[in-house]
Amino acid sequence: TGFATLGISGMLLKALESAGMTEPKPIQAEAIPHALEGRDILGLAQTGSGKTAAFALPILARIIREGARNKPRTAKALILAPTRELAVQIEDVIRALSRGSRIFTALVLGGVSRGGQVRRLAQGVDVLIATPGRLADLMQEGAVTLSETRYLVLDEADRMLDMGFIHEVRRIAKATHPDRQTQLFSATMPREIESLAASLLKHPVRVEV
Ligand code: AMP
Repeated sequence: TGFATLGISGMLLKALESAGMTEPKPIQAEAIPHALEGRDILGLAQTGSGKTAAFALPILARIIREGARNKPRTAKALILAPTRELAVQIEDVIRALSRGSRIFTALVLGGVSRGGQVRRLAQGVDVLIATPGRLADLMQEGAVTLSETRYLVLDEADRMLDMGFIHEVRRIAKATHPDRQTQLFSATMPREIESLAASLLKHPVRVEV
C-alpha cells in the first residue's frame, strides 16, 4: 500500500488495512517519513486531515521495534489533547492502529474518578493520552513520572492555549526525557504557538496541508 512506501511495515500495515486506511492522506505522506527518522514535526493541520494517524503511526512503529517492557508508573509516549472528547478519539485511533501488537494505552482525563487511571498507570504504559490539567495533578501525586517519555505530541496546541493550559503544557513537557521526539499540531499558528514550538521543538520539519 501507499503506507509501505512511507516506511510503515508489518502489523501496522495490516491494522491500517483493517481500518480501511490504504492510501495515506497528504499530511500523513508529508510527515510520516520524517517522524520515522526521529525528526521533530511542526504540523499545521485541521481536524479531519488525518493528523492523528500521521503522528501516531511513527510512534507506534518505533515502540513496536523497541519492544521493551514497561516500567511501573512510566509512559513511553505522551499525547496531550485539549478536551476529553479529543483524547478519547485519539485513543480509539491508536487502539485500532495497534491491533495485534502489545501496545498498552491509558487515558488520563479530568471529570472522571482517578482510581482507574492511577491503577492503569501503575502498570506502566506505552502510549498515554491525557488532558493537561488532570495529568499535572497525577504527576504531582506521584502516580506517573515522565522521565522515560521519549515521544511527546501536543495535539490542537492552539486550543490548549485558548483553554488556559499553557502553564501545565510547559511543565509537563519539561518533565519528559530531554532526548525526546516532539510533534506539535495546531490548526492555527499564532505568535504564542510559534514561541511554544520554538522552545519545545528541535529543528522541526514543518508540514502543512
Ligand atoms: P483526524 O484528522 O486524525 O481526526 O482523522 C479524520 C478521519 O479520517 C478519521 O475518521 C480517520 O479514521 C480518517 N482517516 C485518517 N487517515 C485516513 C486514511 N489514510 N484513509 C482513510 N481514512 C483516513
